[in-house]
Amino acid sequence: MSRLDGKTALITGSVQGIGLAIAEALATAGARIGLHGLAGPDQVAAATAKLQRAGAPEVRFFDADMSDTAAIDAMMDAVVAWGGADILVNNAGIQRTVSFAQATPEIWNAVLAVNLSGAFHTMRRALPLMAEKGYGRVVNIASVHGLVASVNKAPYVASKFGLVGMSRVAALEYAAAGNKAAGGVTVNCICPGWTETAIIEPQIAQRAAAHGGDRAAGIADLLAEKQPSQRTSDPSEIGALALWLCAPIAHNVTGTAIPIDGGWTVQ
Ligand code: NAD
Repeated sequence: MSRLDGKTALITGSVQGIGLAIAEALATAGARIGLHGLAGPDQVAAATAKLQRAGAPEVRFFDADMSDTAAIDAMMDAVVAWGGADILVNNAGIQRTVSFAQATPEIWNAVLAVNLSGAFHTMRRALPLMAEKGYGRVVNIASVHGLVASVNKAPYVASKFGLVGMSRVAALEYAAAGNKAAGGVTVNCICPGWTETAIIEPQIAQRAAAHGGDRAAGIADLLAEKQPSQRTSDPSEIGALALWLCAPIAHNVTGTAIPIDGGWTVQ
């Protein structure tokens, strides 16, 4: 396994779900972890303890609301004072399933603010410092919905397509930073399909209701519609890919959007 000793990783939305699994993978490799998200003290303490057990030499919690540009700026100031983020994982995200007829300006603004603008504001602060160091990794957690559409997800799909496009621009702007030995600066997206976390619970509940409340049947229903493997992903599988992207050997992997989707996007 590639070591990340001496590196600092800021993972947004890492108090639970996919973000926590990524933080755990990076902690296992020895990175200092910038833990982040909307959470109470108990959840923060539990996540911190988990990351310390995994091997993080230091864990610091940040609570910036990702829809608040000033709060993100203050967080990035604090991260710079802490030595700067060598690894930035934009994972915080929200989902609202609404049709065009049901969607409101508030829903559109909320989803775009967290899923897209939030990532822009962390990247614009982190990337120049990564270039100075000659090593940097931005891993943006997009979605299959950054590559293909589904009904009733206009704000989410727009935000994730935007994230994929924005990441490609950043990959180009920083492609020549650093060198092979240092690892260079890369920017990539991971595009998960159905992954069992809190964010998909409302959709599971909706499908389960059509099967008399049977949760397993609800999940099977979701998978049957889109994910040919008929298997959900575990958050740790996203963590393992994020860790690999952080290794120096991945210095020439940039501008990609890698699906972990059981074949969803090749149909
Ligand atoms: P989750 O709901 O468990 O985690 C979302 C995280 O984002 C939480 O830690 C939360 O604190 C944070 N967050 C939300 N709004 C925030 C705000 N305003 N300010 C700060 N933090 C905020 O869900 P998850 O599945 O772990 O989602 C992680 C990412 O993965 C999201 O970007 C999501 O779109 C993406 N994704 C998930 C799936 C899936 O099936 N679970 C599939 C594709 C993409």
